Order: sequence, then structure tokens, then C-alpha cells
Amino acid sequence: MCELLVGLPDVRILGVHGKANDVLRIYVESRGERPGCTNCGVLAQLKDRSAVELVDLPCLGRATRLVWHKCRWKCAEASCPVGSWTEEDARIAAPRMVLSDRAARWVTLQVGYYARSINDLALELDCDWHTVNDAVIAYGTALVDDDPKRFGVVRALGLDEVLFARVGSFHRQEFSTQIVDVARGQLLDVVPGRSGAQATAWLERQGKEWRDKVRYATLDLSSPYRKVFTTMVPDAIQVADPFHLVKLANTKLDECRRRVQNETMGHRGRKSDPLYRCRRLLTKAEERLSEGGREKLMGLLRAGDPHGDVATMWQAKEAVRELYAHADPDLALQWVEQLGADLQDADYPIEARSLGRTLIRWKHQIAAWHKAHVSNVCPSYCTSS
Ligand SMILES: [Zn+2]
Repeated sequence: MCELLVGLPDVRILGVHGKANDVLRIYVESRGERPGCTNCGVLAQLKDRSAVELVDLPCLGRATRLVWHKCRWKCAEASCPVGSWTEEDARIAAPRMVLSDRAARWVTLQVGYYARSINDLALELDCDWHTVNDAVIAYGTALVDDDPKRFGVVRALGLDEVLFARVGSFHRQEFSTQIVDVARGQLLDVVPGRSGAQATAWLERQGKEWRDKVRYATLDLSSPYRKVFTTMVPDAIQVADPFHLVKLANTKLDECRRRVQNETMGHRGRKSDPLYRCRRLLTKAEERLSEGGREKLMGLLRAGDPHGDVATMWQAKEAVRELYAHADPDLALQWVEQLGADLQDADYPIEARSLGRTLIRWKHQIAAWHKAHVSNVCPSYCTSS
């Protein structure tokens, strides 16, 4: 009955102990046959037993330890060079692992599939953080290494920089690069840094055959990633991510608003300043402005934007968004070229000229979206910002 509950193969239950609210300890020993010496085959002699305490799965809501009384065997043949050895049974626990085999499989599943934290699991099992971490690395690595083709065929590959952590007392920003299958919306891997070196090495490791199947390469407007794609997947069509382009237009609009604010008022935006009051209306998509919202925006701009710089940038941002209303790739390229040239007009604010230069520098990647329709993020973002 007790063996049925404990559920381990070929073990005898020696006892179960545990005071209320304390860790439950299950004492077991193997029931296997006496082994033969691996060298000479002579039946081994029992030398002694030593108890190993393993962290096991919680039992009836209590943290549980499996105390395994392992046999130490020695060869009975006096002339045999084999001395003594300790029994192993991978069905109970892998050698040198502090977690039982089933507990190690369970924590690996919890971390890898359900994205639970190591800390959370260590608390649940009432054990050390490192105990769980070691098991997840040992079992998880085996799973990943077993499946070199796990990425499958990727037709549209995206690189995206993501802030990974703030480190040290000065909160230095550490970035990472996400490698994404953008057609399927699946994260493939994360590599350190955003310089492109690690992403290049990652692509190198996938092999040429894999890389040759990548037809589209999506990127934010970052030169390092462009270099990665140009070197590693030269035949893939590069596509600038619409989300990042619209975000850049909004950033330039915001820079312009703050500059004009400072030039006209001599200080940063305050609650009563017209430009500060319209900051949210400015970045909202035009078609999402209500009649009242639009009137309010125009009124605030008349009051706070004497030279029309902010209004110009607002129109530039809307023109960039309009780019994605085009269905025809050739028309889209003409539109980017025209808009990029117009924005560089000497009479336009400095932010517009900067945006114009970016549009020209990336015109092919921007227009390529109209052929590929692949984006690092859901394309609907472009219409909502
Ligand atoms: Zn022997």
C-alpha cells in the first residue's frame, strides 16, 4: 500500500517520518538483485549502506524528502582491481543530483513550459535555489541539445533589442537581442547585447542551409542589425518594422514639442502650458481623435506653437502612418522617397529634417513591408499609436 503511494520502481519502504508542519521524510532502499562486478562478473558483496537525502515532489501538501539508503558494493574476488562502488538508479535520481528524478523533471517543466521562477519552486519544495537551478540546467540542457532542429524552417526572421536589466547602483542598462520567427510570432532565442555580434554568431551556428530558407528579415531602424542581416542572410529581403518607424516619428514629434516649449516659455512643460496639455492628443492617431479632441488640439497648437513647428511634425507623423495605408509596393516606395525629400526642406524644423534623412536611408526596407507584411510586433500597433 505504502509502496503504491510512493510510486518508485523496485524500492522497499523502510519508514515514513515527519512531525506536523515539518518536512516529510520517506526512507527507502532498493529491492534489486545483488549485482555482479562490472570487471570480473563475480557477485558483489555488500560493504555498507549510506543514506542520501533527495528533495522529492511535495506529498499531500507537504515538502518531502526521499532518504535513499544506498548500498555500497565491493567485488568478492580478491585479485580483481575493482574496489567498491555505490549503487545508482537513474529512475530514482541522476548521479550527484540533489533532486529526485521525478522532482527534477517536474521543475524543468514548470520553468520551461509554465515560466515559473526558480525561487518560486525552491519555496514550494522547501529547498535551496541552487538545487532547483542545477536540476533545470541539467535536465533542460539535455532536452534542448537533443533537438537541434527545434527552430524548424524560419521564413521571416526578426531581430529586436530589448532592455534586459538595470545593473549596479547607477542602474546601467543592459540590453539583449531577441531573435524571433515573426511569421509565427515565436521567440526563438535571446542573446546578450545589441551590437549584433552575438546575433551574427547565433546565425552562424544555425548553418547555411537553415539561413538560406530565411526569405524576410525584419528589423527596427538599427544599423548593427542591418549589418547582421546583410552579412548572414544576404538574400533575404530586409523589412523595416512599421511599429518602430511610427514610434520614431512620435519620438521626433515629442522632441520638437519639448524644444518649442523651452524656446517659447523658457522652461519645461507645466500643467497649464498649451503644448504640455496637448502632448497626448499629438501622439494619438488622427482618425481616433474625436471632433472635440481635434478642435482642442488645433486650439492648443495655435496658442503654444507660434512658428508651426509642432504642427508640421504632427503632420509628418501622420504622413508616416499613412504610408501603411498604401497597398501597392511601388507606390509605397515613391511615397517614402517623396516624404523623405519633402521633410528635408530647409524651412522645416530640425526634427522633421532628421526624420526625412532616416526615411531616405531606410526607404527600401520601409517600402519592403508592403510586399512582405511581416512585423516584429502585431501590425495593428501601427494604427493604434
Ligand atoms: Zn571484480
